[in-house]
Amino acid sequence: MPDGRDPSNPTPGRETTNAGPTHGTPTSADLSGPTEKCGVVGVALDERAAARPLYYSLYALQHRGQESAGIVTHDGFQQHSHVEMGLVGDAFDESDLDSLAGQTGIGHVRYPTSGGVNASCAQPFSVSFKSGSLGLSHNGNLVNADEIREELADLGHAFTSDGDTEVIAHDLARNLLEADLVRAVKRTMDRIHGSYALTIMHDETVLAVRDPQGNRPLCIGELEDGYVVASESAAIDTLGGELVRDVRPGELVVLEPDGSGYDTYQLVENDDTAHCFFEHVYFARPDSVIDDTLVYEARRDLGRKLWEESGVETDVVLPVPDSGRAFASGYAEAANEMTADGTARDEGEDAVEFAEGLMKNRYVGRTFIMPTQDERERAVRLKLNPIKSTIEGRSVTIIDDSIVRGTTSRQLVSLLRDAGAEEVHVRIGAPPIVAPCYMGIDMASREELIAADRSIEEICEEIGADSLGYLSVDSVADVLGASKLDLCLGCVTGEYPYDIEGEETDRDVQRPVIGEGEPAHADD
Ligand code: SF4
Repeated sequence: MPDGRDPSNPTPGRETTNAGPTHGTPTSADLSGPTEKCGVVGVALDERAAARPLYYSLYALQHRGQESAGIVTHDGFQQHSHVEMGLVGDAFDESDLDSLAGQTGIGHVRYPTSGGVNASCAQPFSVSFKSGSLGLSHNGNLVNADEIREELADLGHAFTSDGDTEVIAHDLARNLLEADLVRAVKRTMDRIHGSYALTIMHDETVLAVRDPQGNRPLCIGELEDGYVVASESAAIDTLGGELVRDVRPGELVVLEPDGSGYDTYQLVENDDTAHCFFEHVYFARPDSVIDDTLVYEARRDLGRKLWEESGVETDVVLPVPDSGRAFASGYAEAANEMTADGTARDEGEDAVEFAEGLMKNRYVGRTFIMPTQDERERAVRLKLNPIKSTIEGRSVTIIDDSIVRGTTSRQLVSLLRDAGAEEVHVRIGAPPIVAPCYMGIDMASREELIAADRSIEEICEEIGADSLGYLSVDSVADVLGASKLDLCLGCVTGEYPYDIEGEETDRDVQRPVIGEGEPAHADD
């Protein structure tokens, strides 16, 4: 279990000068990991209201954002919108859903990406303009939103939030005054730079767009009476639908408003992709399928590789619930097939035990009040409790998906020693996080990341473990079946697939030039 976003720095990439929970004196402890920012969905149905299927989809995507939830529908005459702060279950009641008329709509769950934690940034963002109404749901983060905002503001556009989604909405609205829907989307895609998976409503038409490098996931599903586009296939499963395929990087999907089908347009071609590897490791639901692979299986395979790369012989292997479970099961399976030095186990040789040795209190929220440093240091005990009989007098390996600040790992190691563990080894199913994320994941600032300026040995000493092992970047790419240049690995290499001011890139990429005369629209 990683150790937390910084509540004082909701905007990734804008590093905080206010130190986080381990260094300063905030009043809350936060045991969540890197935080996914958003989930998006869109549906078009034949003779059935879209509101309830959207609502159920948002439930399925709740893990991608817990700050606000919203739905925008269109009934052929006008747009209807309901957006509230809070969890999906709290944001809507029966009458809200009844008021969202229409067979097409989009939805959103949000944790703030850019823009503050307030209702003005909750989504879908909706706007009416000369040639109709627009609704937008965005997962990701633009790295050139400020430049476009400045240019549009100079042209007279008035902004109501400081979020990048409004920038996309205004840019698209402006392009729709001059071009048809597909060309307008293309013009906006040529200007925005960064990570985006969007569901858009233009009047009653639902669109889905994925950025040319496909950083965030987005997929198409077929229902009995229509089509759905969603961040993860788990939302399609929830509606009883079938996954058709992922939306391709740079592709626009336009759903027929009567749910009878969809058209696709490959608007931008790119040699490389930049899928966020952390979706597979941590963010996505294990029951979702991304890039044709079940996330649960990918995590098990990463766990197997972790054993091959840095396995250590111990009595018992424990997952850190819930996110370490699939890794630990793959790790333990591999450990029972071969020894840590790579030789096959003899038949009848004592098996490595895979056990649930840490029980999670599911009623502890993401953040809770911890007034003193001492209490914050003990925060993990509120969330996790060891099963002593599994641990006492034994050497244990705990498997987790990442270490962010190191606070939680240190607490966990100490918890296990207090429960009687003779040795505590820590294995992580991803490489060390050395740099922040600018693409919509709330990691922590560089100064707060324990691995930013420490060796693995130094981190091991800081968290008090007997040994520590991470998975290598090469192995992640190998297990995910991708070239490193088709993945975003920015937070573990410090080299990003987008042109970000002050940061290195790992490929030939340049942000569009904004504000120097009218764009040429050569390929319109
Ligand atoms: S920097 Fe890390 S978390 Fe952010 S998109 Fe890239 S891989 Fe994902």
